[in-house]
Amino acid sequence: NLPLSQVDPEIAAVLGDELNRQRNTLEMIASENFVPRSVLEATGSVLTNKYAEGYPGRRYYGGCEVVDVAENLARDRAKELFGAKFANVQPHSGATANAAVLHALATPGDTILGLSLDHGGHLTHGMKINFSGRLYNVAAYGVDNETGRINMDEVRRLAQEHKPKVIIAGWSAYPRELDFPLFREIADEVGAYLWVDMAHFAGLVAAGLHPNPIEHAHVVSSTVHKTIGGPRSGFILTNDSDLSKKINSAVFPGQQGGPLMHVIAGKAVAFKLAMTDEFKDRQARTKRGAQIIAERLLQDDVREAGVALTTGGTDVHLVLVDLRNSPIDGQQAEDLLHEVGITVNRNSVPDDPRPPMVTSGLRVGTPALATRGFGDEEFREVADVIAETLKPGADLAPLRARTAALADKFPLYEGLVYA
Ligand code: PLP
Repeated sequence: NLPLSQVDPEIAAVLGDELNRQRNTLEMIASENFVPRSVLEATGSVLTNKYAEGYPGRRYYGGCEVVDVAENLARDRAKELFGAKFANVQPHSGATANAAVLHALATPGDTILGLSLDHGGHLTHGMKINFSGRLYNVAAYGVDNETGRINMDEVRRLAQEHKPKVIIAGWSAYPRELDFPLFREIADEVGAYLWVDMAHFAGLVAAGLHPNPIEHAHVVSSTVHKTIGGPRSGFILTNDSDLSKKINSAVFPGQQGGPLMHVIAGKAVAFKLAMTDEFKDRQARTKRGAQIIAERLLQDDVREAGVALTTGGTDVHLVLVDLRNSPIDGQQAEDLLHEVGITVNRNSVPDDPRPPMVTSGLRVGTPALATRGFGDEEFREVADVIAETLKPGADLAPLRARTAALADKFPLYEGLVYA
């Protein structure tokens, strides 16, 4: 029972180095966040030792009476937070949640209709070599060439043509709200299930800053670690009791064995925190931060450098920078921002002329910085640093100093030491 630093100094060093990296840089990957200390404590706990196949009160192992309390709390809080009748909090990740949803709603060979990956959809929405693309017959909608937005007439046309069993609404890289009532209307017209994957914007929904898909969808899936800022994992909601039974059996034994009870405890904590005013304030700063970045990147000096935004702005926690007219490609932009201490990911833009490993876009998100404490003033400063970095020939040293000053202003995990 020696400490990590003695048992495995190499891994201890990884923990310390990663903590320093997170402290000293500005995290703007739209799907990342910082969990609070309480969530770290729960996920790094003795609950990792427990096998608990099954569901609370109906387990296939003895000794589950304590972990049952954690799972019931997580389920009840998820239901309360999103106004759903049923919740399954066992998915290990967003991808396994999605596998279970498709397992529950469709049979291999059935047709599914989702947003294509290269227009902002997720791998699990029908990408060719993902399970979703291999098991199901995939039809995909894209975004409009001109507006960059999902064209609902096109969704309706494709739904009528392909008669899918499941219509998927949700995205990994799209800066606008979706029209859930219209998606449901189209699903009803063709007799499809509507499944909303709210992985990215669930935190905004919980705070009342984004329409709630559970009011319209047959099933909603999500991750917990993006805007919500909980442990890396997934969950599934529905208001339909028949579907809830199918979902439970699709998660276990359909997809998974023993649930990660330490992570489920962390989810319970994250959902409790998501009911607070502090959380609502954080989500409001997240959304406002994205708007501030959009406003700065739309100014003339940046536009003249060939930088644009897909859809011309944002309703959510991210912007998609369009570099198709810039001499700087997505890979170079990601590297330049890395050099000034800002972490983002390059991202294909719709009909990207550059290859997928290079791309002509950047996805820039604000959840992690809002968690760190950023408000309007700091978002204005980081927006300006991004704008200056994306101008060809920018002098990077002073920009690096500005991001370091912002990181210093908001200490992260104070007192945490991995020795
Ligand atoms: N769904 C959407 C919309 C996502 O963006 C993601 C992750 O990026 C996932 C599902 C998958 O989540 P995970 O990485 O936890 O499997």
